[in-house]
Amino acid sequence: MTKKIKVKTTVVEMDGDEMTRVMWKMVKEKLISPYLDMNLDYYDLHVKHRDDTDDQVTVDAARAIMQYGVGIKCATITPNEDRVKEYNLKKAWKSPNGTIRAMLDGTVFRKPILVNNIKPAVSSWKKPITIGRHAYGDVYNNFEMPIPGAGKLEIVFTPKDGGTAQKTLVNDFPAAGIIQVNHNLEKSILDFARSCFTYALSERTDLWFSTKDTISKVYDAGFREIFQQEFEKNWKEKFAKAGIEYFFTLIDDAVARIMKSEGGMLWALKNYDGDVMSDMVASACGSLAMMTSVLVSPNGWFEYEAAHGTVQKHYYKHLKGEETSSNSMALIFAWTGGLRKRGEMDGTADVVRFADKLEEAAIATVESGIMTGDLLALAEKKASNRKVNTDGFIDAIAATLQDKLQ
Ligand code: NAP
Ligand code: MG
Repeated sequence: MTKKIKVKTTVVEMDGDEMTRVMWKMVKEKLISPYLDMNLDYYDLHVKHRDDTDDQVTVDAARAIMQYGVGIKCATITPNEDRVKEYNLKKAWKSPNGTIRAMLDGTVFRKPILVNNIKPAVSSWKKPITIGRHAYGDVYNNFEMPIPGAGKLEIVFTPKDGGTAQKTLVNDFPAAGIIQVNHNLEKSILDFARSCFTYALSERTDLWFSTKDTISKVYDAGFREIFQQEFEKNWKEKFAKAGIEYFFTLIDDAVARIMKSEGGMLWALKNYDGDVMSDMVASACGSLAMMTSVLVSPNGWFEYEAAHGTVQKHYYKHLKGEETSSNSMALIFAWTGGLRKRGEMDGTADVVRFADKLEEAAIATVESGIMTGDLLALAEKKASNRKVNTDGFIDAIAATLQDKLQ
């Protein structure tokens, strides 16, 4: 074994639940720990430990990311009533991802992992498309009301500083109907813009942003203006230097262009648009287990994880002693994403190189035909394809990595 690579700054590690916790341990033991000399600030976000600490451990983990800059997280259970019973919890604690996101104030970027033996459903896509979804406003923080019959709907804004209230007619209803009121905050939109510019520069990808600004001349156009001003003020020169561009277009035009593009861009979208379009991109690229996810804070903190959950069904099989074929690809990419970022921030090229090699090894393993069940169903049919179990997949990647590091 060659000498271990030194990771300069502490990395925040957040352990999780169920099948991903099982895979997390294997990935660490077989693919990470043997190669890296690293100080890990470990937080156990197992649902029972969150319960024991009244969820303080989640808050502590988020604070640690603020201190060190980079965190890597396993998938975790968001408890509902069934989980409260299953784990005998004090209550249905909030989603850890929600708690961490609220503290870091970030945007989540999701990017598929592409391999050459699984073709995206859209034949022109050659490079991964990353979706950046705003996490505030639109229908997710709306006000809705049924209108029982004919009458006037008016909206009143009362300034806090005691200025005159403004009353506006929204609609003069001829008969019964329904209403929805959306709002957003300038600060939230600006933070979203900053996270998108930060991520695009960090990944050296073009940034596309699209809204329905021709129809929504205040709300959607407001997003466009905030992005444009922030770009001109703080990013234009940096983008030019990095050889990347910022491109705004109407959402209809963006959708049409994306379907004919080669991919490779970051596509920033409002909350609702991002919800819908991320499912389209994920489904066109195949498996949930091939989708990476990173939370980028406007303050320059990064949290890497897999986009999938704890793979509960596979875990129950595992507990019964049955064989599982769970895919650890996105978990591995959470580690490599975090390590690459750590290496870039520390200026340690060998850490960045290790992250690259581990990703190459994982991709090469799948491309050689060795894969888990979810991928076998999608891959080009070849006689050399071989389905492996959860451990076997990680062992095969470990062997490929050994060769690459020789
Ligand atoms: P899930 O864990 O994403 O799994 C849903 C299904 O997708 C699985 O049953 C499996 O399909 C397939 N799948 C997902 N990841 C896979 C992998 N790595 N390898 C192979 N197949 C994979 O969603 P869930 O089972 O509905 O949710 C379980 C728990 O995860 C919930 O308690 C939820 O709160 C939590 N969750 C956490 C996060 C997070 O921490 N980021 C995100 C979402 C959900 P087959 O059964 O068909 O093989
Ligand atoms: Mg969705």
